[in-house]
Amino acid sequence: MTITSPVGERHDGKAGTGFTITATGGSNVIAFDIGTTHPSTVVSFLELSNCAGQVQYQNRASAISGATQLIDSCILHDHTNTAAGFGILFQSADRNKTARNCIIYGITPSSGAGFGITAIQAAGGTIENCTVRDCETGINVAVGLTQSIKNSAVFDNGTANFALAGTLTGNNNATDDSSDPGSTTSNKLSLTATDQFTDVSGGDFTLKSTSVLIDAGATLAAVPVDIIGTVRPQGLGYDVGAFEFIINVISENISLFISSNFPNNFAALFLTGCAPTPVVAPETLLSRVSDNTIQIFQDGIDTLINQLGKSVRLIYPPTIIDCPNCVNDPIGNKPANRFRPGPMRFSDGIRCPYCRGTKKTEEENSEVIQGLIQIKPRDYKRYGISVQDPGALVRVKTFITDVIKIERATHAIIDIQKQDIIKIKCRKIREPIPTGLRDSRYAITFWERV
Ligand SMILES: [Zn+2]
Repeated sequence: MTITSPVGERHDGKAGTGFTITATGGSNVIAFDIGTTHPSTVVSFLELSNCAGQVQYQNRASAISGATQLIDSCILHDHTNTAAGFGILFQSADRNKTARNCIIYGITPSSGAGFGITAIQAAGGTIENCTVRDCETGINVAVGLTQSIKNSAVFDNGTANFALAGTLTGNNNATDDSSDPGSTTSNKLSLTATDQFTDVSGGDFTLKSTSVLIDAGATLAAVPVDIIGTVRPQGLGYDVGAFEFIINVISENISLFISSNFPNNFAALFLTGCAPTPVVAPETLLSRVSDNTIQIFQDGIDTLINQLGKSVRLIYPPTIIDCPNCVNDPIGNKPANRFRPGPMRFSDGIRCPYCRGTKKTEEENSEVIQGLIQIKPRDYKRYGISVQDPGALVRVKTFITDVIKIERATHAIIDIQKQDIIKIKCRKIREPIPTGLRDSRYAITFWERV
């Protein structure tokens, strides 16, 4: 027999998001008191609140060999009235009892005991991937009983995380003190709750991306999913508690993220829509790139610019100089009208044809730098550039040390083939834009063919 809420009306792992049974306090009990006709029972996807006793596993009828009882993916919370209470009660020896992927909190009666999960009267049960917080006592095991607990987070409980008159075995649990009595103590984790969960006081027990509970659990074949159906494990191993942290989600946007936030100096590129979760701005992500990774990145681009880059002859505004073709007579503003050895011979007394009698000519200035050339770049809109003819655009990537030169230039003559075979003349349409990881090392300038 299964007692559950229908798909579409189930909680999302937080209280108040799905089908809920709320008692009126006092001594009200919600008890699944199963008789001999229902040897195997599952209670799942329910939220129960404000009951004296919340879910009881009881069998007051005669024993049934091999019967099982499972409470799975339930949220049990906020028992604060005067009667003693509990989240889950394991009772009767003849049942194989399990609590799995459950969240229990706020079992704090104003008088009497308040247990997150308690085992009394007979053999205890099995607790797998549960989260138990803010109860008067987290886990209680009565004298003479043995209870197993695995992959569970038990923390912030008032009197004690564990009250053990009997025996508790288990492994890979997490507490906020040193009270985990699990037999495999080497896997015991200590934690500060607020650093591990999204919003403890708000009842959101999803894991933060930095939580030590991620991948800290043991593989449990009986727990293939978490409280909301996320397949376990995600990443390197099972997580501790009711939620499995989702490392990646597919987004509709195609993006490139680089992250070095992996063990053993591995870096990873997230390509084509596979973005880290929770969503991180690319800038934030890039700030996590290691110095080594940046060095490799920069060395590669430096090599490209130095070895495969093309010559870019920057054309500066011309300088006005004295005419090299006629005598520069410093007296008055009159033309000198006298030849001096220069490019265009003329007879004294007539106007110098080179400077048309102005005595001044322009001297071309230019300088060659190296740059990576992209004809018809596709990414110009990203830089806020709008042009009538994108086909005439040329994008040049240079070292940032060339920026002062580029800013002086109005035009450029750019090699677009090796060995000076094809050159194009371009007009600068946008001043250089610094680019590169962390400290800007390069600059991108947009030009237009003329
Ligand atoms: Zn002249």
